[in-house]
Amino acid sequence: MPRFQNGYDEVRAVLVRRIDDARAAETAGNLTAARGLWQKAGDSYRRLADAESNMIDRARLFKKASDCSARAGNLGVARPPTAHEPLGQGSGTEDFARKIDAMIFRSQVRWEDIGGMRETKQELRYAMGLQLARQPSGCVIDIPGRILLDGPPGTGKTLLASACANMLGATFFNVKTSDLLSKYFGESSQLISALYRRARDVAEDKGLAVIFIDEVESLVPDRDAADSGAEKRIVTSFLSELDGLSEKKRRSGVITIVATNKPGALDPAIVSRMDLRIHVPLPDGPTREEIFRLQIEENGFELAPPLTCAELAALTEGKAGRDIQRVCKKVLLHVLKECNQRVPELVASGEIGRYALQTRPFTRADFEQAFRAA
Ligand code: ADP
Repeated sequence: MPRFQNGYDEVRAVLVRRIDDARAAETAGNLTAARGLWQKAGDSYRRLADAESNMIDRARLFKKASDCSARAGNLGVARPPTAHEPLGQGSGTEDFARKIDAMIFRSQVRWEDIGGMRETKQELRYAMGLQLARQPSGCVIDIPGRILLDGPPGTGKTLLASACANMLGATFFNVKTSDLLSKYFGESSQLISALYRRARDVAEDKGLAVIFIDEVESLVPDRDAADSGAEKRIVTSFLSELDGLSEKKRRSGVITIVATNKPGALDPAIVSRMDLRIHVPLPDGPTREEIFRLQIEENGFELAPPLTCAELAALTEGKAGRDIQRVCKKVLLHVLKECNQRVPELVASGEIGRYALQTRPFTRADFEQAFRAA
């Protein structure tokens, strides 16, 4: 349960007031006041997030904080860009900066939060260790800083990249390919350059930066199969960023981790630039068991005997970690609903803030129901 000096309810009440006031100011056309209020609402969300121990809720609150900041930022733009206006030209490089800032996270994922994959974790930990170690005097070592993770969706590639960033204490740029793709010719290349420029600046100021690009094959497809000059140009820009980093023959402090579930669709030149290529397969039985344990026991819940995580693992052959996470979430929501039927009544009476949610051990029937619904 989050704790505050001034009380959780009070922080929430201030937050609700700020949001209401920000909306009212926006409606009244008082944009300066609205901007300040959205920024303050973002601060309140961040306060709640900092005090939240549940990782999912914490991430949700940080997302809300960044939504509020983005809304404040939008009100700061002198005029809204029109639909025909490329991002980088009409409203200036501020838009690039805002887009890139929205990709920045501080990762809190630890290696022990990732089930199984012992060798993969070891390999990555070693590569990250090289980043942290001092270079021997008189030698110049091109430290491996470009990593390709390939494997089916939901198998923990993002988690692995996050754990690398957390181990390094690095700023984590979590990039969705769609964030970089633009319909305006040349804009994606500019965004890639801006992203790397920002990462290098951050690395210079604060240590290290990890750029993680998911579904990278959509950004840099095989140029032989690419059907437009724009796509080819993006591949060239990305290659030059990757090459630029190594040509300097010194640590730029920027590590690039890319992920794909279609390695064959990637441009071969990109694949050849990678220092490390790691296959992340669907989890085997012991890994699934570990993921169930992390999802259930590590989150403070228990299974009703004789049900065990090993038994659940046996029932989920061929499933990815994300499927397991979803099933566990479904079970939890079902149990919460069953054990907390008075919630609507308590909401109506205003007593909900003092009510502690009840749970019970998860049964085999709960899981069977969740598997059927999945
Ligand atoms: P990918 O990037 O490969 O698509 P993610 O890293 O985003 O997959 O994983 C999605 C979710 O699945 C994670 O947030 C986590 O809850 C769960 N998950 C996947 N693999 C693992 C694992 N090995 N250990 C713990 N959780 C996992």
